Amino acid sequence: MVENRPVDPKEYQPGLKKIRKRRLCLWFIIVVYLPAMMWALDSPDYKARATVVFIVWIIALIIAVVFACIVRCPRCGECFHTHGPTFLPFRRCLHCALHVNADKRAAEAETPEARFKKKQ
Ligand SMILES: [Zn+2]
Repeated sequence: MVENRPVDPKEYQPGLKKIRKRRLCLWFIIVVYLPAMMWALDSPDYKARATVVFIVWIIALIIAVVFACIVRCPRCGECFHTHGPTFLPFRRCLHCALHVNADKRAAEAETPEARFKKKQ
């Protein structure tokens, strides 16, 4: 549910910090794949190591994606990165368009409807 009352952006800070932390974890796991696989393939026992690295990495990726999917938007209460069955790790809430850095940028904290009303 989108509220139209004036909101202090600091109110969203704990929820947005949680979203940023989960996004960072997801991107870290994605980026770490290449160096981990290069390390595994560089060893004499590369088949076994590459298999272990891949299995550990895919499990970590699944866990990070699940945690990123279920994180809730502090403004609307919906899943921040999920709309229906689709996972889209955008920087804005897929339901109310709250930016992931809205607590750092006060102008972004308003709902699109509130901004539209101000212009009229
Ligand atoms: Zn939202």
